[in-house]
Amino acid sequence: QKAEWAKLVNEKTVSADGHHVELAANIGTPKDLEGVVNNGGEAVGLYRTEFLYMGRDNLPTEEEQFESYKAVLEGMKGKPVVVRTLDIGGDKELPYLDLPKEMNPFLGFRAIRLCLEEQDMFRTQLRALLRASSYGNLKIMFPMIATLDEFRDAKAILLEEKEKLVSEGVKISDEIEIGIMVEIPSTAVMAEQFAKEVDFFSIGTNDLIQYTMAADRMNERVSYLYQPYNPAILRLVKMVIDASHKEGKWTGMCGEMAGDETAIPLLLGLGLDEFSMSATSILKARSLISKLNRTEMEALASQALQMNTAEEVVQAVKTATMA
Ligand code: PEP
Ligand code: MG
Repeated sequence: QKAEWAKLVNEKTVSADGHHVELAANIGTPKDLEGVVNNGGEAVGLYRTEFLYMGRDNLPTEEEQFESYKAVLEGMKGKPVVVRTLDIGGDKELPYLDLPKEMNPFLGFRAIRLCLEEQDMFRTQLRALLRASSYGNLKIMFPMIATLDEFRDAKAILLEEKEKLVSEGVKISDEIEIGIMVEIPSTAVMAEQFAKEVDFFSIGTNDLIQYTMAADRMNERVSYLYQPYNPAILRLVKMVIDASHKEGKWTGMCGEMAGDETAIPLLLGLGLDEFSMSATSILKARSLISKLNRTEMEALASQALQMNTAEEVVQAVKTATMA
């Protein structure tokens, strides 16, 4: 099996009936790039920039960040790189920011909420990203967007920094796509409105599942409710994909679900454009997709959307992909 997968390193990802999707990798640091290249990643679908800020006792400077972003963009040699702006809070703490303790950190002051208030910190990151943009194919993504206003505010700040840099004579790419993570149910529900303003969506199922099911992703006691295949989740995913396509935009997924063997047939059928996963899952996923028929998976997905329980969905996927 490993030998069969290895042959796929330089191949595109195409279903048995010729439908192309993109298989991307999730990374945390520039060091992860080697794994992306060796495993045939077609893009970086999620660069979690938190790691630049963690394990130290002060904020990373614009220069330090610029070097990391540039390294990743250059390392990918013009292939797409989706960089997520700082997603701190929730399960990821930054002791030196000295934020007050909260009762519900996952529902609290985190990610874009924090960045829109701590604007110096946010602007520093955006400047570093903009400056790095001329070294590759950069896409910028905002995490934990719950309302259109948050997206508009974040985008306005980004454009302000871009203008400043341009007037300073800095070279900045004019092709930077600006997108959002869809990981809060309100945003999935409002996807049609968002799709008119964003360039792309990336569905963050790790959080989308916990917020939809009201089941803490870290809590073993309620893990039985953490159900990726619950039709409620599939319906939200469908709403997001359909809304993006209606506006000529694309949708990726960067939660764990994107690399999951049971989910992939469903996601292919729902029309997902980009699957972002840990690099070590890419070749296996490419092999799986090459054996799936997109038209059949569409039929499977539309049945799954009408089912009552996650178990029924899992059973249907098994039956449909056994042949
Ligand atoms: C997600 O929520 O699905 C996601 C990819 O982000 P993180 O796991 O970093 O919260
Ligand atoms: Mg998340």
